[in-house]
Amino acid sequence: MGYLRDELEQFIMRIPKVELHLHLEGAIPLETLFNLIQRDERETPIKTIEDLRRKLTYTNFAHFIEVWIWKNTFIKEGKDFEKIAYEVSGNLSKQNVKYVEVFYSPGDYWRQGLSEEEITEYLIKGKDRAQEDFGIQSELIVDLCRDHGPEIGMQRLNRLTPYLGKGVIGIGLGGSEQRFPADPYAFVYKEAGERGFRLTAHAGEVAGANSIWTVIEKLGVERIGHGVRANEDPRLVAFLKERQIPLEICVISNVRTRVCKSIETHPIKQYFQQGLMVTINSDDPTMFNTSISQEFLALVRELGFTVSDLKHLSMNGISASFMSDEDKELMKSQFEKEWQDLKSIYSMS
Ligand SMILES: [Zn+2]
Repeated sequence: MGYLRDELEQFIMRIPKVELHLHLEGAIPLETLFNLIQRDERETPIKTIEDLRRKLTYTNFAHFIEVWIWKNTFIKEGKDFEKIAYEVSGNLSKQNVKYVEVFYSPGDYWRQGLSEEEITEYLIKGKDRAQEDFGIQSELIVDLCRDHGPEIGMQRLNRLTPYLGKGVIGIGLGGSEQRFPADPYAFVYKEAGERGFRLTAHAGEVAGANSIWTVIEKLGVERIGHGVRANEDPRLVAFLKERQIPLEICVISNVRTRVCKSIETHPIKQYFQQGLMVTINSDDPTMFNTSISQEFLALVRELGFTVSDLKHLSMNGISASFMSDEDKELMKSQFEKEWQDLKSIYSMS
């Protein structure tokens, strides 16, 4: 993966981590995605990995969504999902990610004849096998997708409720935020919350602060996916701080989709210094040519975060997760110990 270049990079690879905002289909290892494309009988201009890399660049958020949908047409068999879940967890485990909450979008594959139940079952197999082999725990979050509408969202919730607590932990709301406001999903979120699903939604990424207010007030979310545009409303920033509502921040994603001009102008540092509950995530690492480690690295290199800031952020990942309080405490003490060991090896302050 090419990040073992210097001591800082090695150190960052070894930081114990949690990832809370990662889309499984955006994290398919590049080679695996390339092979899926080559396997397809359709004629394709993608002849090399480099062609694929070039395809994975975007003029804006809508263009990104277009490429996202194109990519998913190459996932054709249930077993592909098992392999993808296994490989994604394996990649994270190499970066010392101990726990991950993974979005998946089961509604994108009906054309391929894959049911939402079948996809979920294969994913659970893949992630359980990864947990046995690598020790990494992962939980699935079902993306209801704004573009599909709340009625389909409700159907999806009903179909996948049997998997709650058996690999599925919550629901999320990705898709075209700029076109589809979240309000109509209120009844779906209410029902999901009553059934025990944990609640998050993408907001404040392509739409502004009002979109964040909507998911807090109407959907009752426990976390905000992105929330990068919260600073358009100082009252919202104060509210997020007071309630410590976690933001699932994905810096490089925001730059690649042109939500932010550059890493330097991203508000992560401002939010962190203001005391907001921010977490670091990679969103769609393959599609944005990033990784959870590169996200941490960018904070140090581009924004001057210190090693103790990184520790704070890695601990925030645990606090903001949907783990039980007991599991959080256990993982925090494990992280403390690993941080002590790391500091003695790398002598960084
Ligand atoms: Zn996302």
